[in-house]
Amino acid sequence: MLRSRSPRIQEQLLALALRQIEKMLKEMQKEGKELTRLKLKRFQKTHHIDCTCERCTTAKAKHDPRLRGLLEDGFKVYVEGDKAS
Ligand SMILES: [Zn+2]
Repeated sequence: MLRSRSPRIQEQLLALALRQIEKMLKEMQKEGKELTRLKLKRFQKTHHIDCTCERCTTAKAKHDPRLRGLLEDGFKVYVEGDKAS
C-alpha cells in the first residue's frame, strides 16, 4: 500500500471504484437480484501500528487510535440479509 497518495490519485481511485460499483449493480440487476436493500460499505482501515506518519505519531502521543491516518481501500456492495454473496 502506498503511503503518500496525492488527492488527485485519490479522486481517480474513487472514480474507478464508482465505475466498478455501477457495473456490478447492472450485472446484479440483470441477474434479477432485489436491489432495494442494497448497501454500500466503504472500507476504511487505519494505518499500520508501526506507521510513523504525522497523524499516527500524534495518535500515539495522545493515546487515541482514532487519530491514526486512514487508508481507504475501496467499496463493498452487498444486499442486506444476503450474506452469502
Ligand atoms: Zn500513518
